[in-house]
Amino acid sequence: MKIERIETFLIECPIDEPFGWSMGWTDKRGSLITKITTDDGVVGWGEGGGSPSQTVIHDCFAPLLVGEDPLNINRLWHRLFQNLHNDNLTGGFGGGALSGVDIALWDIAGKVSGKSISEMLGGAVRDKVAVYATGLYYQDDEFPTKLIAEAEAYVEAGYAGMKTKVGGLSVADDVKRVQAIRDAIGDDVYLMIDANKAYSARTAIDVGRRLEDLNIHWFEEPVLANDVDGYLEVKSNQPIPVAGGEVLYNRFDARDFISRCALDIIQPDIRYIGGITEFRNVAAMANANGIQVNPHVWGSAIMVSASISLTATFALCPYSRSPNPYEQEPVMEFDQTPNPIRNELASIAFGQSGGFVDVPRGVGLGIEIDLAALERFCLRHFSSK
Ligand SMILES: [Mg+2]
Repeated sequence: MKIERIETFLIECPIDEPFGWSMGWTDKRGSLITKITTDDGVVGWGEGGGSPSQTVIHDCFAPLLVGEDPLNINRLWHRLFQNLHNDNLTGGFGGGALSGVDIALWDIAGKVSGKSISEMLGGAVRDKVAVYATGLYYQDDEFPTKLIAEAEAYVEAGYAGMKTKVGGLSVADDVKRVQAIRDAIGDDVYLMIDANKAYSARTAIDVGRRLEDLNIHWFEEPVLANDVDGYLEVKSNQPIPVAGGEVLYNRFDARDFISRCALDIIQPDIRYIGGITEFRNVAAMANANGIQVNPHVWGSAIMVSASISLTATFALCPYSRSPNPYEQEPVMEFDQTPNPIRNELASIAFGQSGGFVDVPRGVGLGIEIDLAALERFCLRHFSSK
């Protein structure tokens, strides 16, 4: 079997209700989808990166992939990585591009072997993966009625935890906003905050201390994504556990955060970290250092399926006879913001029940792509032939 064709689809769609976070405001959602077809007609789907990654895949990767055996994922992954590594291009666009190709190769391997992703990884440790609701972004005219209604809806839907944004308002107003959510959901629901890198260490420490009595379960991306010393400073000087890592692009990016225990929870994104292959490496490093792995998930059914399948295989951190989500079990992000791509691109829109999602059992990613939806969302299509 040989790889015959590489295609990529840059996709985007508008959303009815715009929303924001500390770094931006959006009225659309998008992604980059990779399709790899073999000479036997087997098709694998992947997701990773954005518009510049599309160029990386076709200019740098396609010549190294076409004609090769798609089942030799390790050989291909390292060939692509090394192609970028010597020029220090593995981060950013390169990491996204490699992730999209890697996930598509795993999908092909599953379809050829008749196994799911988790089966190919050696089997699931758990049949269901715990998820938390990501929402509670900034919206127009949200405070307090709309914001509280959204938080209450997540409790009603069965989530044991949810995450909101900070860093988009003054510290005082953000504290008021988080307090309103805590008051609405009560003390028994996990609540997390995400600054998306908006603070200096000094301000993040101030925020963490002001929120001390609200039982916040983690403080995500308090400072710049590559600022290991900043993370250590925040972790050491305020009471909330520190999380981060959604824009790490390979195990070398993650190395200092993990080896120096600069965070309590690491959150790689399978679309950026280098796909399933590299996420496994980072997860193993983190586990050995006592750092929990709670994947960042914010894309289509392709990456949602890949993320659930991979998370199902993670070791407990630490081991326990009776493990619980948020304590020893991983907890995966479950994006609840408006996104027609997430709901319409594939045959399955993954749903949660009681704060858990089932591990996909079908071959490969276990999903069928709706080609009409793909065409409808597509802004730009590239093909290797
Ligand atoms: Mg985040």
